[in-house]
Amino acid sequence: MKLCVCSHNSHKIKEINQIIGPHYLLQSLSEIGCHEDIPETADTFLGNALLKVRHVWQNYQLSGFADDSGLCVDVLNGAPGVYSARYAGDARQDSDNLKRVLDEIQPFQEIKARFVCVIALILDGQEHSFEGITEGCLLKTPRGDGGFGYDPIFVPNGFTQTFAEMPITQKNAISHRGKALEQLKNFLDTLTF
Ligand code: IMP
Repeated sequence: MKLCVCSHNSHKIKEINQIIGPHYLLQSLSEIGCHEDIPETADTFLGNALLKVRHVWQNYQLSGFADDSGLCVDVLNGAPGVYSARYAGDARQDSDNLKRVLDEIQPFQEIKARFVCVIALILDGQEHSFEGITEGCLLKTPRGDGGFGYDPIFVPNGFTQTFAEMPITQKNAISHRGKALEQLKNFLDTLTF
């Protein structure tokens, strides 16, 4: 069965392909002929994921799924949240976004945070959603060279390493995205065609 992964990020699609398995032919936005950037203007992760997947359903009549994710920091009242990718401006630079969060958390002592990932799926017109959350706390000094985004300051609960210090397989096993994808996979595995 064909499913569109509503993303232009080929690295993300390759990773998802490894998790979802061989029963589905995953196609990127470019592969279905969608070259425009779909606006992410909602104020929730679910809202943004739905905007992308509904765009594909309405304009291409294709089943598919989209994810939206970000970091929510308690002492920043949940910021950067849905604005994680552009917290320091529309240039969407990971290093600038990380610096802004670092600057803002310096006055605080215990900094609880969580990564959230929501996947919206449209299958033959029916909408479904899946959420993965990884709780942790933030360091005021970055550690590690792996990963991306806010990984160098995020230490998941029960671990001492940051996401940027972990092997990618370990991060995927406990990450918000890994958990949401696992739920999507379990759901897809229950379907018979
Ligand atoms: P996206 O929805 O997957 O494009 O992620 C939006 C933004 O959230 C990214 O640009 C990162 O700033 C942040 N983010 C999401 N997931 C992660 C992660 O696993 N590690 C670090 N940052 C992340």
